[in-house]
Amino acid sequence: MDEQIRLAAFAWLKKQTDIFGDTLPRELLTEGFDYFGQRIRLMGPQGIWKPKQMDLPLSITTVIDGPYDDKPDVKGFLTYRYRGKDPDHRDNAGLREVMRLRKPLVYFFNIFPGKYLATYPVFIVNDDPYNLSFTVAVDDIAYLNVDKVEDTLGGTARRSYITQTVLYRAHQRQFRERVIAAYRSQCALCRLKHIELLDAAHIIGDREEHGDPVVQNGLSLCKIHHAAFDNNIIGINPDYQVIVRQDILEEIDGPMLKYGLQSLNNSNLILPSHKYDWPDRGRLEKRFDAFLKAG
Ligand SMILES: [Zn+2]
Repeated sequence: MDEQIRLAAFAWLKKQTDIFGDTLPRELLTEGFDYFGQRIRLMGPQGIWKPKQMDLPLSITTVIDGPYDDKPDVKGFLTYRYRGKDPDHRDNAGLREVMRLRKPLVYFFNIFPGKYLATYPVFIVNDDPYNLSFTVAVDDIAYLNVDKVEDTLGGTARRSYITQTVLYRAHQRQFRERVIAAYRSQCALCRLKHIELLDAAHIIGDREEHGDPVVQNGLSLCKIHHAAFDNNIIGINPDYQVIVRQDILEEIDGPMLKYGLQSLNNSNLILPSHKYDWPDRGRLEKRFDAFLKAG
């Protein structure tokens, strides 16, 4: 029974992400799905969740509070804290049993309040009572029923790679949600409010030093202004002023160029409501230098 419900939960999650996209609302997960007349909930009030119809936990949920809190460990895996300090609390004991029996779980990353990225299958691969934590590895769904994969070198390498990829993606999704919300779902240059046309742009690229996926390194920009910013057609100086490149200002063309780009010259950047969300001046300065050199 436990096994079948687990597989049914994965299949149901797959269907939901096809409908809702990769982040799922909390209500949907706590409401769960119908399994032969029984309601199976995928998430509970605590981090480790076991539906009453199952013998062992089905999901673990965590909150990503910043890019530093959940960096992968030295092997590229995730650390998941025990519930409380008692290693024998039933939730912790349940996860230990999940590890022993090599059962797959769902990991819910909290991307934004009330929104989760569902990752499965994940496996508990180590227990560390001294640090009150478990080690979690993400795997490919194709390896769901392959026994003892974590004992092989190839299996470990694959899981490490997949875990790091998933974590990177979770951070980028979180960055997008947080940046766009900080700017009240509008473009920081032109106020366009269509969420489908908005991106969270990095001030310093995410592969560079100080390119962390934090709101202070982000700008909510519409697609056109994101591309213009990335291509140094538009720069933003550390005083939050928008500067359009000289040769673009001198060009003569239709209304998109005139209103979409040229008219922004010397305008003020639209800033987030909270000052702590404002772009970091140091990062803007570094980026603006690159813009000036490109011009
Ligand atoms: Zn715009």
